[in-house]
Amino acid sequence: MEFESIDEFHEKIKRIIISEEEIKAAVKKAGEMINSSYDGRPILLVSILKGSFIFLSDLCREINVPCEIGFMAAKSYYEGTQSSGIVKITMDLQQDVSKYHVIIVEDIVDTGRTLKDVAKLINSRNPISLNVITLLDKPDRRIVDFKVDYSLFTIPDLFVIGYGLDCGEYFRNLPYIAEFSEK
Ligand code: 5GP
Repeated sequence: MEFESIDEFHEKIKRIIISEEEIKAAVKKAGEMINSSYDGRPILLVSILKGSFIFLSDLCREINVPCEIGFMAAKSYYEGTQSSGIVKITMDLQQDVSKYHVIIVEDIVDTGRTLKDVAKLINSRNPISLNVITLLDKPDRRIVDFKVDYSLFTIPDLFVIGYGLDCGEYFRNLPYIAEFSEK
């Protein structure tokens, strides 16, 4: 993606749909839920890169029970803003999940394919338990049957950017979630 000018770059940010303050409050609540559910038992937070890196970093600072961090990278191949349906695990976890209560931390669930594949892989390695938390959920777009355990925000069928989510690798650093302008 190339931009003729800084104005053209800014014009791609159509409108803010979830503010910084709303995200902060929802992440705090999610952290409290994890603290009360796990009660001191060891947790492994598995961040699915790259989109969830900001959500993970804010969420883990709201957690006050013992937790470790792990990373996996999964790539959903996109044609423009549409998923091609091909998901590839490009970086695997280092930890032996059989020693942990695993929480997969995802940025957004769209068709559900990425999470279904990642959860299947982690489950095959026998974690003590497995739960999935996502910042955003687009249930209208679901193609495969996958239910997340905790979703911070449900959004309509829009392509969104910011707070870790990109378009062509840009916009991840926006502190809010915005609708991307296709124009
Ligand atoms: P799924 O496998 O559920 O179709 O897609 C999940 C992945 O697609 C997400 O982790 C994210 O990388 C990407 N994705 C899906 N919807 C959006 C969106 O609205 N904005 C951005 N930036 N990425 C999306």
